[in-house]
Amino acid sequence: MRRLRNVKIVATLGPASNDYEMIRALAEAGADVFRLNMSHGEHEEIRVRHEIIRKVETDLGRPIAILADLQGPKLRVGKFSSGAHDLEEGDKLRLDLDPTPGDSKRVQLPHPEIFAALRPGANLLVNDGKIRLQVEDCGEDFANCVVIVGGTISDRKGVNVPDVLLPLAALSDKDRKDLEFTCELGVDWVALSFVQRPEDMVEAKQLVNGRAAVLAKIEKPSAVENFDDILAASDGIMVARGDLGVELPVHAVPPIQKRLIRKCRAAAKPVIVATQMLESMIESPMPTRAEVSDVATAIYEGADAIMLSAESAAGNYPIEAVTTMHNVAMEVENDDTYRSIIDASRSASKDTVADAIVSAAREIAETTNVKAIVCYSESGTTASLTARERPHVPIIAMTSRRKTARKLCLYWGMHCVITGEVERFKMAVVNAARAARTAGFATEKDMIVVTAGIPFNQPGSTNILRVAPCDERLIFNTDPE
Ligand code: PGA
Ligand code: MN
Repeated sequence: MRRLRNVKIVATLGPASNDYEMIRALAEAGADVFRLNMSHGEHEEIRVRHEIIRKVETDLGRPIAILADLQGPKLRVGKFSSGAHDLEEGDKLRLDLDPTPGDSKRVQLPHPEIFAALRPGANLLVNDGKIRLQVEDCGEDFANCVVIVGGTISDRKGVNVPDVLLPLAALSDKDRKDLEFTCELGVDWVALSFVQRPEDMVEAKQLVNGRAAVLAKIEKPSAVENFDDILAASDGIMVARGDLGVELPVHAVPPIQKRLIRKCRAAAKPVIVATQMLESMIESPMPTRAEVSDVATAIYEGADAIMLSAESAAGNYPIEAVTTMHNVAMEVENDDTYRSIIDASRSASKDTVADAIVSAAREIAETTNVKAIVCYSESGTTASLTARERPHVPIIAMTSRRKTARKLCLYWGMHCVITGEVERFKMAVVNAARAARTAGFATEKDMIVVTAGIPFNQPGSTNILRVAPCDERLIFNTDPE
């Protein structure tokens, strides 16, 4: 199963996509990565979903990445005695620690550490930012607020506090349990929500301890401010536009998205654009023109991956949503403007041997008729550098590590193949040619570029580039051992 598309599709699983048939259909329609949202679902349910994805992976014969998305310190109000209350501009609402069900005058906010950090004048946004409260007066166990923008408040609605750097651990107790559980299951990526500082990522990486790659969700103003350091401490990034568009004015999100995508590409780390990409497809088989344009924009900007949330997890048209993304990607990536934008936004690479080799491979692909760049990459580092080049021929990543192959599924353009360990360069070239032919990217008459490191099976040793024929007899006759 080869893909002719470079941008990857991440599909969130949920009640609408729980069984083998649906998950397989989503993978066949184009999903490259499945997201397990730890905000919903018991461990047992997550375990079953994970197992099904692995079965689909085996049956389809291509690696699939699984991303576990930790809930993070999401703040919520308590419950109300009569379900919901309408708040109007100018009304007063008191937040406190009392678990007694709330009413139109007060409700619980069960987070003592928030009261400690609040100051008069701070804004609290409730229910995806629909309601805006401002703190007038506060103490260690209460905050008296005035309603600035009214709306309906109900049980357990989310609260965002954009103006205050919260003294919250990036990982709640639930997150720590979920992290341990999903790492033991064998997920490939763990995503951290509401990251505020690089230290949050450092801590998560220590807990993950190499069992998965770790991705930072950028959804707080402080994460945008500390972005360079957070990127340096992360393996990948998600532009989490849902909460980001609540914590910051929505119109601030598009330029941030653009800037973050550029920085991630320069750092050779994958970036996902997430949330509301095809929101109307939760209810409708047809997207809006604006949504299609939004998906196209993320692709033109060079994102590694675009994501479906409720569209695939809880919507009525999960397969149509994946198909829509796939079709938009095919259209955009075949547009000449796309190529010129991608080429123009390539940044100078570092001066390591691996950087020089991947950029030479890309240049050779530009000036000759080679059909693919095949790179041997044990840890995935050389493959990620190759993706950063955004070459116009397919990239095939060859690795003996299943884990690496799965992780790389999130990267732009990466076609991942698990190979046996090779010891001789001649066999590496033969295997590369075989992989290119099997995937349908090349025929016996074609040429490919192969990059590898000798000695084999040592991460970070890329030091060789060969322009090779795909005809095995020619390789055997001409190549050195
Ligand atoms: P969520 O994260 O869906 O877990 O909230 C994504 C976002 O906020 O955009
Ligand atoms: Mn979020």
